[in-house]
Amino acid sequence: MQNQDNNNNFFNQNPLITFAIFSVVVILLFKVLVGEDSNNIVSNTQMKHTQKVSYSELKHLVETKNVSKVDIGQSYIRAVSADGTTIYTTRIVRGDTKLIEELDKQGIEYSGFSETNWFTEMFGWMLPFLIIMSLWMFFAGRMQKSMGSGLLGVGSSKKMVSSEKPKTKFDDVAGVEEAKEEVQEIVDFLKFPERYVEIGAKIPKGVLLVGSPGTGKTLLAKAVAGEADVPFYSVSGSSFIEMFVGVGAARVRDLFEQAKKDAPSIIFIDEIDAIGKSRNAGANMGGNDEREQTLNQLLAEMDGFGTDTPVIILAATNRPEILDSALMRPGRFDRQVLVDKPDFEGRIKILKVHVKDVKIDDDVELEEVARLTAGLAGADLANVVNEAALLAGRKSQKTVKQKDLFEAVERALAGLAKKSRRINPKEKKIVAYHESGHALLAEITKGAKKVSKVSIVPRGLAALGYTLNKPEEDKFMMQQHELWAEVDVLLGGRAAEEVFIKEISTGAGNDLERATDIIKSMVQTYGMSDVAGLMVLEKSRQSFLGGGMGSAREYSDKIAQDMDEFIKKSLDERYKAVIASLQEYNGAIEEMVKLLYKKENITGNEVRDIIMEFEKANGMESRVEDHSHDIEEELKADAKMSDETKE
Ligand code: ADP
Ligand code: ZN
Repeated sequence: MQNQDNNNNFFNQNPLITFAIFSVVVILLFKVLVGEDSNNIVSNTQMKHTQKVSYSELKHLVETKNVSKVDIGQSYIRAVSADGTTIYTTRIVRGDTKLIEELDKQGIEYSGFSETNWFTEMFGWMLPFLIIMSLWMFFAGRMQKSMGSGLLGVGSSKKMVSSEKPKTKFDDVAGVEEAKEEVQEIVDFLKFPERYVEIGAKIPKGVLLVGSPGTGKTLLAKAVAGEADVPFYSVSGSSFIEMFVGVGAARVRDLFEQAKKDAPSIIFIDEIDAIGKSRNAGANMGGNDEREQTLNQLLAEMDGFGTDTPVIILAATNRPEILDSALMRPGRFDRQVLVDKPDFEGRIKILKVHVKDVKIDDDVELEEVARLTAGLAGADLANVVNEAALLAGRKSQKTVKQKDLFEAVERALAGLAKKSRRINPKEKKIVAYHESGHALLAEITKGAKKVSKVSIVPRGLAALGYTLNKPEEDKFMMQQHELWAEVDVLLGGRAAEEVFIKEISTGAGNDLERATDIIKSMVQTYGMSDVAGLMVLEKSRQSFLGGGMGSAREYSDKIAQDMDEFIKKSLDERYKAVIASLQEYNGAIEEMVKLLYKKENITGNEVRDIIMEFEKANGMESRVEDHSHDIEEELKADAKMSDETKE
């Protein structure tokens, strides 16, 4: 980062060092003016009449009564000798009371004197002021840093507006091809603004990057600046909120002023929802003045320059639906670019970007890692690679192995391993049955995601155990039977507790919530029930882009009541069916629990083997789906099909 304000900037930022330097100078000055002088007592012109003696010599002179008058200071003694010369000692010997006794004995006149002079006295007076001043400087400096603005006014806030010229390129941002395409135009405009201005093309001023945390919005914004080779001004919406009223608005003003001076340039506002929250979202009535002022200033600034000024404002949010619609008006953030979580191919690409920096073993297959990480964002994947490298380092390996990556994936998926935390035996039993219930249902239910691992090792803070389901492909669409299958799997945990423990724990709360949500959206959004037929009760979230808040219910009380009944009835029905399945397969569950007790983790294959063995032993037809065919084959089949349709 370059700091725009270069003069004095070192001292502004390091008040402590400034103070230290200042003190050293003062002390040296003091030494020169006072110290040396006082040790020499008399100036050089009088030198012939003075004589330096050691303490013992002085004592000897006293004992032999060769001195007439003695003055005792804090650090030296001066005396007048019998022949009239002034003599002095360089040092005093502290705690020596003998000298006084001797002086008394000899009847020599003596007195004490203070070595201070005008300078030391003034220094003594000034010291408290100096301390106060330096303390003030120190705290003012710190406040300035944390608020981005000077204590004594807005004028100094300019110091904190800083820019950089990122080296990030589009190649560093992977798996978000569409978003890259959409911002390509901006890069072009920043590179050759004249072309667009001459034609009179209207270039978007503000672009809203919408996507979950860690999907690469900041990275993409930086890459736009990097590709266009223009300054990148970055601020975070939340940083405005901690300030005093008025400071945020002033900072926005300065930010735009600088960026315009530096044009072509990019302003990036992260977490814009922090300042751009809808004013009627009711979040905090009575309002947050600072936020409102900052927002108004931002809107004013955006309206204040024409489309011919090559300054582009990119803003990021993961909750566009709460943004004030004023922000989305034409000439402001009138364009939205979705920076979505990556799909399978996208994840491979992102992993490839990040393994560039680490030494990777030949055995590593990033496809495998990508397959296991559906739902993770770019930042999570970057983290997985780094975590794997750390694991490899800890084991003193030369390269990162597939095993390390898998372990890192597990950690990313289920939170950090809490190996140290022991669950008590009762909890362990409940968790083992609960997870086995999920696993069994996942395997015997058609359309459910298959199990890749069951574990009763507590991970993270919340999960005592977990069942990892293996999404075999990225699903952007689900069929009705798959949704019901998911409900069954979710209910399997609680049902297992009821069947095998005969009592229910709180551990199933989240499962039930998710099951309820699935059924609800089948009714409300997907038209999969008789309750409302094809009528959509809840518009999909996309509506935010048109603005418009208010989620007032748009259907009758009767439908609402029917829906509640449908959800309850469905849950009851599914729950009964799940209980029946668990009872039917109870031997298999017991086997799984036994193995879980022994190994704490069991694989999907072990689960399937147990179930199939149980089915065979009991002469049942297997409900375990054969999925020996894998994605590669499916993909190949897909490719073939599209080839065929081309012809
Ligand atoms: P956001 O701003 O969306 O929260 P960031 O851009 O801050 O996410 O992402 C954090 C980090 O995660 C990036 O610096 C990068 O290392 C990694 N990352 C995120 N998305 C991607 C991506 N699409 N391609 C490559 N790396 C990514
Ligand atoms: Zn569960």
